[in-house]
Amino acid sequence: MSIDETRVESSEHSTPKGARKRGLAQIRSEWCTGCRICVQSCPTHCISIIESELNFNGIAVVDLQHCTGCNICAIDCPWTSVEMFNPDGSKRDQVQYEKQLKRLRGYQ
Ligand code: SF4
Ligand code: SF4
Repeated sequence: MSIDETRVESSEHSTPKGARKRGLAQIRSEWCTGCRICVQSCPTHCISIIESELNFNGIAVVDLQHCTGCNICAIDCPWTSVEMFNPDGSKRDQVQYEKQLKRLRGYQ
């Protein structure tokens, strides 16, 4: 898969506006190392790794139909490669993840 094809694939996961009631996760493809930590973390199993010329490990993509916007992948990604969006399409403040991390795991 070429880099352009990867971007097309990512853009298919662009933030829908209007009907969506939940937030969602989007992967910054260029930052993703393909480490699979988010794949293991996601409670709805909606993250998969696809082949990409960006990274020999592949890169993560999110199936938005099943993403609940729970933030867990964004909290767990060691490379801050996950961006979270609110239902209105605005970017979620990363401080929210940090607060959530502290609450869930007892550390920041
Ligand atoms: S945890 Fe982060 S770097 Fe690792 S596969 Fe997921 S998005 Fe990519
Ligand atoms: S926000 Fe939650 S449901 Fe959505 S991809 Fe991340 S871990 Fe999975």
